[in-house]
Amino acid sequence: MKVIVIGGGIVGLSSAYYLQQSGHEVTVIDKTDMSSNCSYGNAGYVCPSHFVPLATPGIVKQGLKWMWNSRSPFYVQPRLSWSLIDWGMKFMKVATPEHVERSAIPLRDIAIISKKMYEEWTALPQFRFAYERKGLLEIFQTDTGGDHAKHMLEKAHELGLTDTVLLSKEQLDALEPQTRILAKGAVHFQCDAHLYPNKLMQQLLADLRQKGVRLLGNEEVTGFENSQGSITKVKTAKAVYDADAIVLSSGSWSRELAAKMDLKIPLVAGRGYSVTLEDSPYKLNHPAVLIEGRVALTPMDGNKIRFGGTMEITSTDAPPRMSRVKGVLEAVERFFPDFTVPMPTMDKVWYGFRPCSADGLPYLGRTAKWKNVVVATGHAMVGLSLGAGTGKIVSEILNEEKLSMDIAPFNLDRFR
Ligand SMILES: Cc1cc2nc3c(=O)[nH]c(=O)nc-3n(C[C@H](O)[C@H](O)[C@H](O)COP(=O)(O)OP(=O)(O)OC[C@H]3O[C@@H](n4cnc5c(N)ncnc54)[C@H](O)[C@@H]3O)c2cc1C
Repeated sequence: MKVIVIGGGIVGLSSAYYLQQSGHEVTVIDKTDMSSNCSYGNAGYVCPSHFVPLATPGIVKQGLKWMWNSRSPFYVQPRLSWSLIDWGMKFMKVATPEHVERSAIPLRDIAIISKKMYEEWTALPQFRFAYERKGLLEIFQTDTGGDHAKHMLEKAHELGLTDTVLLSKEQLDALEPQTRILAKGAVHFQCDAHLYPNKLMQQLLADLRQKGVRLLGNEEVTGFENSQGSITKVKTAKAVYDADAIVLSSGSWSRELAAKMDLKIPLVAGRGYSVTLEDSPYKLNHPAVLIEGRVALTPMDGNKIRFGGTMEITSTDAPPRMSRVKGVLEAVERFFPDFTVPMPTMDKVWYGFRPCSADGLPYLGRTAKWKNVVVATGHAMVGLSLGAGTGKIVSEILNEEKLSMDIAPFNLDRFR
């Protein structure tokens, strides 16, 4: 089959990888040169521990408090947009304890599948993306943070992630002896891993190119043609391409693109920022999430450290806000008083747009309207973690094979 994958982020490239492997003629089309999308500057966590979806009762409560503070970890940029209002209403409605409970198993399962795929890749000579299995620390400073951490530990055990342990302050210090941490303790999710996303993406592109996958950069998909219930042509400003099947993996732009095929996907862009010290004077052995700071730190690829965070629900053409980067770095200093990272200039700051579905679960599966279209987007905070697994499942769907897991919770039509 001639398959066109729209979007060369981790989801699109992983889909292309498995589709090529199963013998399809694959073309990836991206409006950029695929060197700087959301799949690059992220924190690199491959994290079965992230079994809580973005849509929780807590985030709605916190979000309403934080909404007007442009330095806060969660910020909705006020604007008159029907798609934002629609997304917000759906998000608030679905963010219940029952939804959190229901989402845990599917999120865990797809993360475990994905982790297995990344581990298979690390055994191949073309992939050296600094994959490490050191787990993830969730560090807390307050009793409330500690209660949250203990709750997460119990939940992780219930879900079979039994190598999750609670660390006292002394045990945390023993794991990070070179670094002073102001904290009461941490949870160590030993099931997690991390990698250097920039290398992963570059190596995937090189591998696909070498295998003959057509990679068309700087070409925006602008429309489609259809015939007898299938999308048969993909249009860009430069050409019109024939397709037997389409994978829609265009990240934060998927709602607009889906609308061009008459599909409704509630989705907004959640911008996050990161700053990477290429040769860090600070030492950290393990990736860490700062619970009260809502910031992620990752030691990666040798001596690099990346600080990342914030969720800014905004439009993809809104200019970046340096106040949010300041918020990230200030949170780091509250936990790591010896980490004095000077505020970088804008050219040293990376930002990307997380594709946020209205309930925090991906949209993954065939569409009811078009029999040859598979949608794979909406992975929000965990698109890197779930990327390889999503790609594998996309290929299983198009090959009509037995699926690695039940994808009913990711059904596209769940908001109808
Ligand atoms: C600060 C930060 C930290 C993060 N940390 C983690 C982490 O540790 N672990 C984790 O799992 N996730 C993390 N994430 C989330 C993760 O980065 C994203 O979920 C993931 O990269 C999304 O991948 P994607 O392939 O769906 O989208 P993208 O990487 O955005 O790719 C989509 C591509 O589609 C292209 N496109 C869009 N429209 C069109 C069009 N019309 N025509 C052609 N091409 C088009 C875009 O140009 C883009 O290249 C983080 C995100 C941020 C911002």
